[in-house]
Amino acid sequence: MLRLTLLGADSQTGSSLCAKCPHSAAGCCVAPPPLTLTDLARILKHDGREWLLAELASKRLEPSARGLSIRRTKARVSGERGAPRLTKCVFHGVTGCTIEHTRRSVTCNMYICESALTEDKAESAVAGDIRDAHARIMSDQVRLGERLIEAMSKAYPEGPPYDAAFFDWLVFTYEQALITETVPPLSPS
Ligand code: SF4
Ligand code: SF4
Repeated sequence: MLRLTLLGADSQTGSSLCAKCPHSAAGCCVAPPPLTLTDLARILKHDGREWLLAELASKRLEPSARGLSIRRTKARVSGERGAPRLTKCVFHGVTGCTIEHTRRSVTCNMYICESALTEDKAESAVAGDIRDAHARIMSDQVRLGERLIEAMSKAYPEGPPYDAAFFDWLVFTYEQALITETVPPLSPS
């Protein structure tokens, strides 16, 4: 069964196939996508500044070229005794993702593989809606992200420090960019 919840940049998809993923015991979470500048701004809009700073301090999040990367770690794939260990996202627990969807990237919230999209032919209409929503939302995110990168390279030519002041600058710049964009608004935090 497929699920699509449309909430602008906070939209989410889901598939019942993910609980028994045919590709990996930890599903897509073996390869966590980075948190881009737009992801970070969205998290900040959801009161995530202290969470981001704490995750940076604990090195579960680490600065990368255009955002933060999520550390991978080797851990058990399920709570069963003797379950195999797998290298996967540090936020992946024995029953799936351990963080709120407001702390995840848009990619984590929206991505569904072709196996899941095509598993049930009766749900092809929902699959089509998911494809459309994914393309539209990702395109908005990329366009907005390019504006943030441009502004960041001017404001922080040496690279961003990813500290509290930078996060305040980022959320302000994101809000300014949204005013002149047609990007759908965030859901209320
Ligand atoms: S989207 Fe596909 S690859 Fe990812 S967890 Fe679900 S079934 Fe597995
Ligand atoms: S943040 Fe959550 S959904 Fe995204 S890769 Fe990590 S465990 Fe998976």
